[in-house]
Amino acid sequence: MQFSRRALHLTTLAAGLAAGLTFSGLAAAQAYPAKPVSLVVPFAAGGPTDIVARTLAAAMAKPLGQSVVVENKLGAGGTIAAGTVARANPDGYTFFIHHNGMATAPALYRKLAFNPLTDFEYVGQVVDVPMTLIARKDFPAKNMAELITYVKANASKINLANAGLGAVSHLCGTLLQQALGADLTTVPFSGTAPALNALLGGQVDLLCDQTTNTTQHIKAGTVKMYGVTTKSRIKSMPDQPTLAESGLKDFEVVVWHGMYAPKGTPPEVIKKFGDAMRVAIKDPAFATRMAELGAEQISEARQTPEGLKTFLGSEITKWGAVIKAAGQFAD
Ligand code: ASP
Repeated sequence: MQFSRRALHLTTLAAGLAAGLTFSGLAAAQAYPAKPVSLVVPFAAGGPTDIVARTLAAAMAKPLGQSVVVENKLGAGGTIAAGTVARANPDGYTFFIHHNGMATAPALYRKLAFNPLTDFEYVGQVVDVPMTLIARKDFPAKNMAELITYVKANASKINLANAGLGAVSHLCGTLLQQALGADLTTVPFSGTAPALNALLGGQVDLLCDQTTNTTQHIKAGTVKMYGVTTKSRIKSMPDQPTLAESGLKDFEVVVWHGMYAPKGTPPEVIKKFGDAMRVAIKDPAFATRMAELGAEQISEARQTPEGLKTFLGSEITKWGAVIKAAGQFAD
């Protein structure tokens, strides 16, 4: 009797504690976010990923009820930032925006500090962005046909900038060298903002980069433009050919941006942050700016956690095979 009364008391105490914990957990989720949220960008400030992140962050402040502060964590083609976020506190105050690099890293790196499919929570995809192949203004080849001939005769003299192994500029550059059958000298930067500055300054010759970075320079004529990397021409620059129609058969790279959080971030937080993100994607302040910069809207299904995770899995398979065939990897 004595024993069972004590057992009963302990059971009641445990139930009360559990109820109390649930209540405080709920209260915390309702109060979230109680302070600014950090959004990690894996490349240099002022570049294409950074531009998407900052435009989105500004549009999210109102629906989220807090500011989203962009933090640039550079290095190793975006893999340093991804590894840091994978190990960050899953308290709802660290999020991460990345691109196809999340899917190409496992094939590119023998040792990787994160697993894209198990170390994160998935918020959703944000937007698709075409790439463009550009050159410094005084580069000899005027169009793609001339570039093909020029590269064949001068490969050893040509520099191709990128944002490191894991960057989409590296991926696009690898496909370009394969398509041209040429081995160019690659020059890595911490993002394509500094890579484009080097191109504008005449220190490098070629760069493959997102329209979110290159559009203004293509329109101003301060760089040479050879084509877009999408299957069809893009709405924002309909006069520009695709690389495929200019002679690089089947050439296609589309950059997609996804939003992640460290594994273990509470589901209520992922939902609240994700809802604010989905509202921001529709906000003209984001949507119009993205359209001007050549980006393409994506379906609502792709903006969900499941939409991102499924897409990421299919991209890991797709690019893994391409990278293996190209024989590109690092320790
Ligand atoms: N465009 C870069 C890349 O090549 C990244 C960046 O600077 O946003 O991955």
